[in-house]
Amino acid sequence: MELSMISNSPSFSPAIVIKPLVRGFICVTSHPLGCQKNVQDQIDYVKRQGPIAGSPQRVLVIGASTGYGLASRIVAAFAGGAGTIGVFFEKPSESGKTATPGWYNSAAFEKAAKQEGLYAVNINGDAFSKEVKARTIDEIKQGLGQVDLVVYSLAAPRRKHPVTGVLHNSVLKPIGQSFTAKTLDTDREVVKEVTIEPASQEEIADTAAVMGGEDWEMWIDQLAEAGVLADGATTVAYSYIGAEVTWPLYKDGTIGVAKIDVERAADRIYEKLASTGGRAFVSVNQAVITQASSAIPVVSLYISLLFKILREKNILEGCIEQMYRLFASRLYSGHAPALDEAGRIRIDDLEMQQDVQNTIKELWNQVSTENLKSMADFDEYRKEFRKLFGFGLPGVDYEMEVDPACL
Ligand code: NAD
Repeated sequence: MELSMISNSPSFSPAIVIKPLVRGFICVTSHPLGCQKNVQDQIDYVKRQGPIAGSPQRVLVIGASTGYGLASRIVAAFAGGAGTIGVFFEKPSESGKTATPGWYNSAAFEKAAKQEGLYAVNINGDAFSKEVKARTIDEIKQGLGQVDLVVYSLAAPRRKHPVTGVLHNSVLKPIGQSFTAKTLDTDREVVKEVTIEPASQEEIADTAAVMGGEDWEMWIDQLAEAGVLADGATTVAYSYIGAEVTWPLYKDGTIGVAKIDVERAADRIYEKLASTGGRAFVSVNQAVITQASSAIPVVSLYISLLFKILREKNILEGCIEQMYRLFASRLYSGHAPALDEAGRIRIDDLEMQQDVQNTIKELWNQVSTENLKSMADFDEYRKEFRKLFGFGLPGVDYEMEVDPACL
């Protein structure tokens, strides 16, 4: 098991020019300076919005290196002045190869936080394991004493169960019957039909074991037992609902079952924390382009359509805008957050506006390879996707040779 702390890496590799190498829904290279710029841009955004009074001072983020977890950590630190511990699973640069973007992001975050005198520690390892939980508890004891907020933002393809040792793999499949829908072949820029066969009972259970609420409960139980969860602490995990066109694969599919289990866990954790004034929430977030979402068929096409509509209405948000709003207007607004009928926080309100969803429905029926460029924001989709790996950021010299282990 890999378990290491990131510090400014002492190893040096020969400097190289780093170009994007996209393979389907993944880019196999990433740019350290681009990732650093990406993190800095998010920090600058948060600072422009201003401080959030009453936000927590000691924060643990599980799944802190990319997407919603990274954005949560940036908001906690740079709008709240919080000391943060970030847990994630990333690869450092090795033998001249680039690190994963989450590695660079986390190194860049740590550097920026420390420059401002903020406590920041990174823990790279398997968050599902007993070892990483124990290591995190030790770090909290040494560095922060206790934590006031625990953000649970893992998106993982597999989980080795810490008690049974069984390896569970998650799948994105419909339940009960096959699902045929339009999807985007992002390499060939083609809209095509895809049919996904229904999941077996075992696959449904496996997906819930990976993406359900059990591991979140284990984290909270162990933090509480170790005495490192402050009285009145808040914890939040993230979920997604989205448009009806994606429901057979998402909300009503294997991942949807896992997310219902996250809601079950939230109720149990709330009961546990309530005695000290603590709170547990599920926040339903907007669809955004992250490494996790770009791997989901159908969703990439949906996001390309959605982003165009939201941009035209001037209400498009990415991870950082969503997380700033979650902290400022829901979690730490000074009053209890409004909840939906199932007790969840909704920060996906702009995506779910009726007019937006109606337009999506109309466009979904019409979109094809021929009209993709005019109907959907595919170029923007691709730009945002590449940004996840540190490419295409203004102000970064991509012709310059750079040491892949420079961060
Ligand atoms: P992401 O892929 O950007 O980030 C996942 C994080 O989990 C990374 O920090 C990664 O290192 C970490 N991770 C994965 N496996 C790990 C392991 N075994 N141990 C430690 N860390 C591990 O994902 P994201 O899209 O930001 O998703 C985060 C959460 O937000 C998920 O619950 C997801 O369902 C939810 N969400 C995502 C979207 C979306 O559109 N992307 C929308 C709403 C809700």
